Amino acid sequence: MNYRTNDKGQKRVTVIGGDGIGPEVVSATRRIIDAAGVRIAWEEVEAGAEVFKRGLPSGVPPETIASISETRVALKGPLETPIGYGEKSANVTLRKLFETFGNIRPVRELPGVKTPFSGRGIDLVIVRENVEDLYAGIEHQQTPGVAQCLKIMTRKGCEKIVRLAFEVAVAEGRKKVHCATKSNIMKLTEGLMKKVFEEVAPEYPSIEASHIIIDNCAHQLVRTPEQFDVIVTSNMNGDILSDLTSGLVGGLGFAPGANIGNDVSIFEAVHGSAPKYAGKNVINPTAVLLSGVMMLRHIDELAAAQAIENAVLVTLEQGVFTRDVVGDRNNPASTTKFTDAVISNLGKKPEHTRARDHRPVKVPRISGAADYVRATAKTIGVDVFVESPLDAESLGRSLDEIASALPVRLKMISNRGTKVYPAMGGITDCVDHWRCRFVARDEVRLIDDAAVHALLSAVETTHGWMHIEKLREFDGVAGFTKAQGED
Ligand code: NAD
Repeated sequence: MNYRTNDKGQKRVTVIGGDGIGPEVVSATRRIIDAAGVRIAWEEVEAGAEVFKRGLPSGVPPETIASISETRVALKGPLETPIGYGEKSANVTLRKLFETFGNIRPVRELPGVKTPFSGRGIDLVIVRENVEDLYAGIEHQQTPGVAQCLKIMTRKGCEKIVRLAFEVAVAEGRKKVHCATKSNIMKLTEGLMKKVFEEVAPEYPSIEASHIIIDNCAHQLVRTPEQFDVIVTSNMNGDILSDLTSGLVGGLGFAPGANIGNDVSIFEAVHGSAPKYAGKNVINPTAVLLSGVMMLRHIDELAAAQAIENAVLVTLEQGVFTRDVVGDRNNPASTTKFTDAVISNLGKKPEHTRARDHRPVKVPRISGAADYVRATAKTIGVDVFVESPLDAESLGRSLDEIASALPVRLKMISNRGTKVYPAMGGITDCVDHWRCRFVARDEVRLIDDAAVHALLSAVETTHGWMHIEKLREFDGVAGFTKAQGED
């Protein structure tokens, strides 16, 4: 059970109003959940803009962390990172702090909400990896003109998210899971997710599993979105795709989300704080409300969740719409009027639409061991990243000469991923950031740390290097990719 109750038997939930439109949509959601008769002890805490402005660089105060650690469940409004305060988003901090590795973002066609896709029956879920990938946020300026962001993907992370996607499919009675990756280009990172997906899929024989390249997935989502059921994908891909899918069904006002972890889960809409609408009582509370519905399912309040989802569907069938759906001129409902309508519709069933039946999602738990994957590793070379204003030919000849006295040889140099030395005859717009690949000279093919140190000492007599990467084989399989054009 990953929620807690107090001594009165009420389920404890941490609530963060958030910034901009956050307090309005969160209080609308609380009113509706309370009206549905769920016994929740709300524990109000803060995070976001005001906290940053008070000088806390994380935007998340210790009381908030303590409350979520206690209750294990949070409902949260959107948070801003005000310009000039803090470097990291408080949202990402919360997701990472509590290892909420899975971000579930469902969208479905809604009654009366007209879109170019109305009538197609869109009803799909994006299951997005939530803590790894480029969002690990590990960036370095390599030279004054070259920046790098590390894309970290792990077998453990891929396995957790892939299993979660299949479990979501099982819990919601869905038939298909697509894994969307860019494995054709990023073979080791995105390719790892594809590989793990293909290994895990046979454990769910009743669910159709297929892989799709992410760009084709985006294309297909706009052409025939109704073909998709569950899409599992990496962090950045999922961030982009889930905004796209919210657009398919009427916009951010209707896109809920859940950040799921083994210990803590945080429920929030896909949208941000929309500051220009703050305090105007005009925005659509549905996205946060449906996030609240996901939260109710998580805390085993399945009947109340169903009742609220049905009440939202009835309200939309009655033609009660906020400004984002009908515009200013068509007598839009205010946030409070929409909320009142949902409350008055509790207990009613929609005529033309149906809330899906849900079972609780079985959140996968994977071993906590840091070295989850064990393999025999051998180092067969090293990439030395050199900062140099020279051209490829001059740098190559210089490094050839430097290596001539060492047990390693320069195999090639690439610039922005393309081999430029020995020259291939192509046209490469080079920058002062060179990846210089050295491999062992002898037949043993292995190089040790002493050889790497000797190489760096020799290189730095003439050139500046800013980082290195060992070229390693794991159980005999290369753990690095070739440059474009490398043999
Ligand atoms: P946004 O999602 O806040 O707003 C974009 C537009 O979408 C709005 O102008 C509005 O037209 C529409 N919209 C959003 N929510 C709506 C709703 N409930 N009802 C009706 N229309 C709605 O995106 P933004 O303007 O790019 O970001 C504003 C701030 O929010 C930024 O500081 C950003 O960092 C933050 N943000 C936070 C989260 C989060 O807390 N999870 C997510 C995204 C953005």
